[in-house]
Amino acid sequence: MKDAKVLVVEDEENVRRLIAAYLEREGFDVIAAADGHDALDAFRRAQPDLVILDLMLPGVDGWEVCRRIRSGYDTPVIMLTARGEELDRIKGFELGADDYITKPFSPRELVLRVRAVLRRVGEDGGRNPERLRFPGLEIDRVRRTCRAGGRPVELTRREFDLLWFMAASRGRALEREELLMQLWGYDYAGDPRTIDVHVTRLRDKLEKHGWKYLHTVWGVGYKFEPVEARDRAE
Ligand code: CA
Repeated sequence: MKDAKVLVVEDEENVRRLIAAYLEREGFDVIAAADGHDALDAFRRAQPDLVILDLMLPGVDGWEVCRRIRSGYDTPVIMLTARGEELDRIKGFELGADDYITKPFSPRELVLRVRAVLRRVGEDGGRNPERLRFPGLEIDRVRRTCRAGGRPVELTRREFDLLWFMAASRGRALEREELLMQLWGYDYAGDPRTIDVHVTRLRDKLEKHGWKYLHTVWGVGYKFEPVEARDRAE
């Protein structure tokens, strides 16, 4: 297994440093954030394999950070809670936390939990998912259905295949030729610009509810990445 990348979100500096030092010593690649805003920024930038998330944070709290991560990603989250926050624990699981650890905890216990969660996800997460979920968008490969902004979207076969391929390659710039090959196979001798037509139609169908998914990568082709529409300067 490659070194897993862990995002540690904790406003108490000594605790944050302790966790980071321990995980690094165990061979993890660690990114740290001291508040909710930084955490979400770091999450988007670094795309960690796991998040250790303190609940009580200044600004955007742990609930909100977890909720936002969950609205678009399956990245496992381990919540840090103070002793006796039983209600918080329940809420944490409702929000999709994969595990929780009560403070004070031993760093050794934390590392064991991190490994256990990563193992579980590695086993269950699967390389060949049946369904992909993003903020405002759900694509079901088996049923070949798609919902955007909570409503079913009618897609042609090619549009569906294109969307699935791009979404499964999330974050990667894809050349038109590569997309053509995926959709029509090696023999297709047509114009790579055909892809532009399909992408334009997909955008019309999918991007009506405040999220953008299909981005132009100038000089290359396209990239799938969920971005809130107001954040995009295109
Ligand atoms: Ca805290």
